[in-house]
Amino acid sequence: MKRLVQKIINIGADFSTRKALKSTLRFLGVKPENIDKLYVELKNDFYRDVFRKIHPKYKMVFLPQCLRNSKCKAKLTKLGYACNGCGNQNSCKVYKIKTKAESLGYRVFIAPGGSMVINIIKKFKPKAVLGIACMKEIVMAFDNLDVSVQAVELLRDGCVNTDVRMREVFRIL
Ligand code: SF4
Repeated sequence: MKRLVQKIINIGADFSTRKALKSTLRFLGVKPENIDKLYVELKNDFYRDVFRKIHPKYKMVFLPQCLRNSKCKAKLTKLGYACNGCGNQNSCKVYKIKTKAESLGYRVFIAPGGSMVINIIKKFKPKAVLGIACMKEIVMAFDNLDVSVQAVELLRDGCVNTDVRMREVFRIL
């Protein structure tokens, strides 16, 4: 995959949107089921250095509500779920990522869906964003957001009990 990503960059392909990239990938004989993964890898590569150089206080982290401990009782507000920690925090990946990111200076949101993410970004205008989501939501974000994004795909899709590689998230933070 890495070699293919480099090849796409070298030939100067347009990967501004998934749609734009699709025709290049078809030309290169890439299987349709690999298009989303490649698109996300290209975008992550493209924004990596810019993201690193921006101070955390200008960046936001978006966590999906489905990554919370399934017993979570956090209330849904206009800015996502309001987590102040609870008895389940030791087994809650949202809590672990949130506390680490906030200690570094990031603003963190626990969003119930992609449309809230887009609204929050439009309202607060961060310089860069780290998003953890399913592939469908990540592609939608890269297609619609005019900001540097780093994305980490969930290991499991679904609306509850999803999972993520913590090491990958902490590496980006
Ligand atoms: S730590 Fe926060 S997000 Fe996790 S279960 Fe408790 S209230 Fe919910």
